[in-house]
Amino acid sequence: NNQTVCQIQPIVDEVISLMQTHAKQYDVEIIRSNSCEALLYLDRSQIKQVFINLVKNAIEAMQSEGTIDISIDQNENNCNVYIEDEGPGIPQHLLHKIKEPFFTTKEEGTGLGLMITNRIIENHNGEFKVESSESEGATCIVSLPLHDHE
Ligand code: ADP
Ligand code: MG
Repeated sequence: NNQTVCQIQPIVDEVISLMQTHAKQYDVEIIRSNSCEALLYLDRSQIKQVFINLVKNAIEAMQSEGTIDISIDQNENNCNVYIEDEGPGIPQHLLHKIKEPFFTTKEEGTGLGLMITNRIIENHNGEFKVESSESEGATCIVSLPLHDHE
């Protein structure tokens, strides 16, 4: 496997600068509202793929200008990354379906992004959650074990 001990924040920052130009075309701004120096045991390119998928979904969900807020914190065992958008959110009755392969509500969607995202996070012994209350946007939460707690 390709996992190494590293901080997660530089990976998140790399994805933000990668996606910022794309977001600007939709009048969307991506901000990271705090910092976290936690060390994790990660496959950098797979984790990068996770955040690209989640930021891409957030941009696609926003129908007008707004902000995608990314924050990172840690507790005793885990590091949590929150990706919060100002889109329409996900209806309660669809929430359990979004990680299924080929589930998409987009005309040109593949429905594979969240399935792959979930699988990568599970391979890291982490947890992937999506919270949404209708018309209040969606928050994706990626929880990954701290290196010391592997
Ligand atoms: P795709 O983006 O190809 O549709 P995904 O697996 O990435 O596939 O997402 C599956 C579905 O989950 C999307 O089609 C959409 O309905 C819903 N979804 C994912 N992220 C968001 C979000 N941030 N806001 C609203 N709906 C979302
Ligand atoms: Mg997607």
